[in-house]
Amino acid sequence: MRRFLVILVVAALVVVSFAGIIDEIKKRGYIIMGTEATFPPFEFVDKQSKQVVGFDVDIAKMIAKKLGVQLVIKDIAFDGLIPALMTNKIDMIVAAMTITPEREKMVSFSIPYFTAGQVIVVRKSDSFRPKKYEDLKGHRVGVQQGTTADIDLSKIKGIEIVRYTRFTDAFLDLAIGRTDAVVLDAAPAQAYVKFNPKLMISSPVLSEEKYGIAVRKEDKELLDFINKTLKEMNSKTCYDFLVSLWF
Ligand code: GLN
Repeated sequence: MRRFLVILVVAALVVVSFAGIIDEIKKRGYIIMGTEATFPPFEFVDKQSKQVVGFDVDIAKMIAKKLGVQLVIKDIAFDGLIPALMTNKIDMIVAAMTITPEREKMVSFSIPYFTAGQVIVVRKSDSFRPKKYEDLKGHRVGVQQGTTADIDLSKIKGIEIVRYTRFTDAFLDLAIGRTDAVVLDAAPAQAYVKFNPKLMISSPVLSEEKYGIAVRKEDKELLDFINKTLKEMNSKTCYDFLVSLWF
């Protein structure tokens, strides 16, 4: 009898672990997106509704809608997103995350959905006008921990990097002179500069990066579904509409 029970339990576990991720999401009725919400216009907290909104959120809502489930958003530190995905706390990362070979070792990325690049933001009142990363040598530079800006600047000797969890804090420190520059993706840089007349972008776009939605490597079924949704969005000019809405 006991042996029979053991076999039954093992069989049940096998069935559960082989039930697809899409079935699992549909059964529970929601899909969990992980993001870091100080990155306008991709993801940021709307002042009035206090909800996380933005371009990425709308894309994730599209995926949820096609699955027939609700979207749940978890706002976590950028460098905690891949660990959260790998420990099943979230189902996908939609966080303006650049597809890089290092990250691809840990997660699978969708087809690219946005092309971006890094820029340098400085104070207008300062005479410091860096045009390239090398110009940042000997200066204190704010980045978000674990981002491509952090990774690329860390390779250059002589830059004093100050790592932040939230961009809001990085820009506060820049505005009051605790740092000399902040490096981040161009579209959020423009958004921050627009709302802070003390700041300006001093460099051209310094890299070419493609954003992808990340899922666990074993969730190929979900990856295929996301890619299908992204392709459909493109063909329906739904994507163009979202660009015109958020940029
Ligand atoms: N695109 C950058 C990266 O992937 C920054 C993303 C972010 O800060 N949300 O590292």
